[in-house]
Amino acid sequence: MSTHGKNPYEIVQELLKESVNGLGLDESIYQILKKPMRVLEVSIPIRKDNGDIVNYTGYRSQHLDILGPTKGGIRFHPEVNIDEVRALSIWMSMKSAIIQLPLGGGKGGVIVNPNDLNERELEELSRSYIRKITPIIGPKKDIPAPDMNTTPEIMAWMIDEYDKLNGYNVPGLLTGKPIIIGGSQGRLEATGRGVVITIREAANAINLDLSQATAAIQGFGNVGSATAHFLHESGVKVVAITDESGGIYNENGINIPELTEFVAEGNVIADYEKCESISNEKMFALPIDILIPAAIENQITKETAPTIQAKIVAEAANGPSTPEGNDILEENGVFIIPDILCNAGGVTVSYFEWVQNTMNYYWKEEKVNRELEEKMISAFKRVYEMKEEKKSGMRQAAYMVGIKHLVLALKARGWIKNGDLSKM
Ligand code: NAD
Repeated sequence: MSTHGKNPYEIVQELLKESVNGLGLDESIYQILKKPMRVLEVSIPIRKDNGDIVNYTGYRSQHLDILGPTKGGIRFHPEVNIDEVRALSIWMSMKSAIIQLPLGGGKGGVIVNPNDLNERELEELSRSYIRKITPIIGPKKDIPAPDMNTTPEIMAWMIDEYDKLNGYNVPGLLTGKPIIIGGSQGRLEATGRGVVITIREAANAINLDLSQATAAIQGFGNVGSATAHFLHESGVKVVAITDESGGIYNENGINIPELTEFVAEGNVIADYEKCESISNEKMFALPIDILIPAAIENQITKETAPTIQAKIVAEAANGPSTPEGNDILEENGVFIIPDILCNAGGVTVSYFEWVQNTMNYYWKEEKVNRELEEKMISAFKRVYEMKEEKKSGMRQAAYMVGIKHLVLALKARGWIKNGDLSKM
């Protein structure tokens, strides 16, 4: 697969095409799936405290709503761009289809470095972005959630703004809210919890004893820190963690509860003293069992992939591997848990949150976690069985599982004819 220089949108389109072919389906299925049904670009002028007005650009992409309303996070990051948002919305469709949630894929983003804004400016940006995308969102249309650099507090500002415009409280507008205003128990840790459930299933598949295993994690934000917590709880020794501040390494295992407290007190991981420092590149090449990219895209590349010694790569982040990186890992026999399966715990509990908002009845955390576990395990099984059946890699198998589910809905709605499905 030669995809050098392609952006995430082109890459996801290529993966869709290959997987449609892999299932023996007609090209017409690819024609339907290849583009988001709607993409909105918005201008967000903000008055900064120094009196200047800065105009930020935001997007919202909605891929396909044949299974239900579209759903997906909002990202605040300087590298957000329209093709990344389009790709992320397609990935969301795939995740929901793999887990078999009654949702389509959506995603939003604003091109901004949130560290350049103070709290008041960040609140104004959050409220203004949601005002601008209000015409196309809603609990029956498109349901946002947090993603990179967006928090429950930001979700609270956004829903407050929407409720003001609307004139009444609409708790199902978005998910990842603080619990007091309709958030779900277990949502904050859900993505990391799901990541570790898939790692457990992968470890079973390759006979890896987790109680003797070692791991390294890139990113210690929402997903990375929860993943570290649940790995630690499962007896896995987390020996290295990196983030934007730097990286830390301790061959005897990092004390995760202590590090979590250290970071919660406002410190950065690079200042945690009981470890040596380590770079991303060195961490990727460590002789560990499990490597977890939980930060940004394009980290496992043709340069870094050959150095990876881990037996399992669990893609907690969205799009952490380039196609070349993926191929090298597969050739080297690494068990890849692809992003659209690995990090789908977030959208799963977001779905539970929306369900609770819709029925106005709230579940105990135990029920949330139990239902999450059940959905993640059956999704893993579907993907693993597809991989065995088609003799494909895990990533292509995940796409084939997602596409197969969407095709059944397309057929039920009369979009496609039996001839398009001849080999399914
Ligand atoms: P976050 O903003 O909470 O954390 C991001 C982390 O990545 C931070 O620790 C940051 O320092 C680190 N990071 C950024 N650039 C880095 C670099 N170059 N090297 C090392 N570390 C770096 O974001 P998050 O919500 O944890 O999201 C992380 C990834 O998981 C993203 O790809 C996101 O799309 C994906 N994801 C998040 C959720 C969710 O529920 N939050 C769900 C599914 C997927």
